[in-house]
Amino acid sequence: MSLMEGMLRIVEENARDQGFGHVRTVILEIGKLAGVEVEALRFAFEAVADGSIAEGAALQIEEPPGLGWCVECEKESPVESRYDPCPLCGKVPLNITGGTQMRVMALDVE
Ligand SMILES: [Zn+2]
Repeated sequence: MSLMEGMLRIVEENARDQGFGHVRTVILEIGKLAGVEVEALRFAFEAVADGSIAEGAALQIEEPPGLGWCVECEKESPVESRYDPCPLCGKVPLNITGGTQMRVMALDVE
Protein backbone atom coordinates (compact mmCIF):
# COMPACT_ATOMS: atom_id res chain seq x y z
CA MET A 1 0.00 0.00 0.00
CA SER A 2 2.72 2.51 0.92
CA LEU A 3 4.40 1.99 -2.45
CA MET A 4 1.21 3.00 -4.22
CA GLU A 5 0.72 5.94 -1.87
CA GLY A 6 4.19 7.16 -2.79
CA MET A 7 3.40 6.87 -6.47
CA LEU A 8 0.11 8.68 -6.04
CA ARG A 9 1.95 11.50 -4.33
CA ILE A 10 4.19 11.82 -7.38
CA VAL A 11 1.12 11.84 -9.62
CA GLU A 12 -0.55 14.56 -7.57
CA GLU A 13 2.58 16.71 -7.45
CA ASN A 14 3.01 16.45 -11.21
CA ALA A 15 -0.60 17.29 -11.90
CA ARG A 16 -0.51 20.24 -9.52
CA ASP A 17 2.76 21.60 -10.95
CA GLN A 18 1.29 21.50 -14.42
CA GLY A 19 -2.02 22.96 -13.35
CA PHE A 20 -4.15 20.02 -14.37
CA GLY A 21 -7.41 19.32 -12.64
CA HIS A 22 -7.94 15.65 -13.18
CA VAL A 23 -5.88 12.62 -14.09
CA ARG A 24 -7.44 10.31 -16.69
CA THR A 25 -4.75 7.69 -17.02
CA VAL A 26 -1.70 6.83 -14.98
CA ILE A 27 0.98 4.82 -16.72
CA LEU A 28 3.38 3.01 -14.45
CA GLU A 29 6.51 1.17 -15.38
CA ILE A 30 6.98 -1.88 -13.19
CA GLY A 31 9.85 -4.11 -14.25
CA LYS A 32 9.33 -7.87 -14.22
CA LEU A 33 12.06 -8.14 -11.60
CA ALA A 34 10.79 -5.32 -9.40
CA GLY A 35 9.23 -7.86 -7.07
CA VAL A 36 5.84 -6.20 -7.21
CA GLU A 37 2.59 -8.03 -7.68
CA VAL A 38 0.88 -6.09 -10.47
CA GLU A 39 -2.60 -7.24 -9.49
CA ALA A 40 -2.04 -6.16 -5.90
CA LEU A 41 -0.81 -2.83 -7.19
CA ARG A 42 -3.99 -2.30 -9.21
CA PHE A 43 -6.05 -3.03 -6.15
CA ALA A 44 -3.98 -0.63 -4.05
CA PHE A 45 -4.26 2.06 -6.71
CA GLU A 46 -8.04 2.01 -6.64
CA ALA A 47 -7.98 2.25 -2.87
CA VAL A 48 -5.56 5.18 -2.63
CA ALA A 49 -6.87 7.06 -5.70
CA ASP A 50 -10.31 7.34 -4.13
CA GLY A 51 -10.92 10.98 -3.26
CA SER A 52 -7.68 12.11 -4.89
CA ILE A 53 -6.92 13.90 -8.14
CA ALA A 54 -6.60 10.46 -9.73
CA GLU A 55 -9.98 9.15 -8.63
CA GLY A 56 -11.48 7.02 -11.39
CA ALA A 57 -8.31 7.18 -13.45
CA ALA A 58 -7.35 4.19 -15.53
CA LEU A 59 -4.16 2.47 -14.50
CA GLN A 60 -1.91 1.22 -17.24
CA ILE A 61 1.09 -0.86 -16.29
CA GLU A 62 4.07 -1.42 -18.54
CA GLU A 63 6.22 -4.39 -17.58
CA PRO A 64 9.66 -4.22 -19.14
CA PRO A 65 11.37 -7.63 -19.11
CA GLY A 66 14.27 -8.57 -16.89
CA LEU A 67 17.75 -8.31 -18.36
CA GLY A 68 21.01 -9.72 -17.05
CA TRP A 69 24.59 -9.07 -18.07
CA CYS A 70 27.01 -11.99 -18.16
CA VAL A 71 30.63 -11.04 -17.52
CA GLU A 72 31.85 -14.27 -19.17
CA CYS A 73 29.93 -13.88 -22.42
CA GLU A 74 29.93 -10.08 -22.25
CA LYS A 75 26.35 -10.24 -23.40
CA GLU A 76 22.99 -9.15 -22.09
CA SER A 77 20.20 -11.73 -22.02
CA PRO A 78 16.54 -11.70 -21.01
CA VAL A 79 15.90 -13.34 -17.64
CA GLU A 80 12.76 -14.38 -15.79
CA SER A 81 14.17 -13.95 -12.32
CA ARG A 82 17.15 -12.37 -10.55
CA TYR A 83 18.60 -15.83 -10.02
CA ASP A 84 18.41 -17.09 -13.58
CA PRO A 85 21.71 -18.38 -14.98
CA CYS A 86 23.14 -17.01 -18.22
CA PRO A 87 21.25 -18.78 -21.05
CA LEU A 88 24.47 -18.94 -23.08
CA CYS A 89 27.00 -20.36 -20.61
CA GLY A 90 24.97 -21.25 -17.51
CA LYS A 91 26.94 -18.95 -15.23
CA VAL A 92 25.23 -17.62 -12.11
CA PRO A 93 24.62 -14.91 -11.11
CA LEU A 94 24.19 -12.35 -13.80
CA ASN A 95 24.42 -8.65 -13.16
CA ILE A 96 20.83 -7.53 -13.42
CA THR A 97 20.67 -4.59 -15.80
CA GLY A 98 16.96 -4.19 -16.48
CA GLY A 99 13.49 -4.97 -15.28
CA THR A 100 13.86 -3.68 -11.70
CA GLN A 101 12.51 -0.19 -12.36
CA MET A 102 9.43 1.08 -10.64
CA ARG A 103 8.23 4.51 -11.62
CA VAL A 104 5.44 6.73 -12.81
CA MET A 105 6.08 6.80 -16.54
CA ALA A 106 3.40 9.13 -17.84
CA LEU A 107 0.13 10.80 -17.01
CA ASP A 108 -2.81 11.55 -19.21
CA VAL A 109 -4.45 14.59 -17.69
CA GLU A 110 -7.08 17.16 -18.47
ZN1 LIG B 1 27.27 -16.27 -20.08
